[in-house]
Amino acid sequence: MNLRTTALQWPVLRQLRGGDPQALGAAAQSRHSADLRPRTETAQKVVKSICPYCAVGCGQNVYVEDGRVTQIEGDPDSPVSRGRLCPKGSASKQLVTGPSRQFQVKYRRPHGAEWEDLDLETAMDMISDRVIKTRRETWQDEAEGKRVNRTMGIASLGGATLDNEENYLMKKLYSAMGAIQIENQARI
Ligand code: SF4
Repeated sequence: MNLRTTALQWPVLRQLRGGDPQALGAAAQSRHSADLRPRTETAQKVVKSICPYCAVGCGQNVYVEDGRVTQIEGDPDSPVSRGRLCPKGSASKQLVTGPSRQFQVKYRRPHGAEWEDLDLETAMDMISDRVIKTRRETWQDEAEGKRVNRTMGIASLGGATLDNEENYLMKKLYSAMGAIQIENQARI
């Protein structure tokens, strides 16, 4: 490319000579940016969801390719957020794909100082035993003369990495067990 051709590529000349005097479009585009493609371009499907991080409940579009989440963006159809996500919501793809995500059950014994790895089946048995025992020991048919059918010995505090569907199922499960103290960090 000779000097004259290079000079004609200068943004300010393109701004003056082209049809983009305010440099809001083609005049501001470099050869590099002209080659950039959207990260969502190759997605095979888009799944509607809701950001799990806080009680605002912004709408999300989850882009999926080969069964894997490849991008999460704000959903323009959401009346709550109208396509916007805050930095936490914009980074929520990391909840699924981040290298720090744990895939192994971790257990710290009472008075223990170290985390131990447990297989999932053992962990589920331990949890089931504790839930059944606690429910049996703390069940109340009545309180202050009124029928309550509840346990005050079991509570749930969910975290922000739980998605909408997981929170729905947790509420159903705990209510069915008679627990009434059911919360999520996003509401606190
Ligand atoms: S964390 Fe941010 S993106 Fe997520 S629901 Fe709250 S405000 Fe919306």
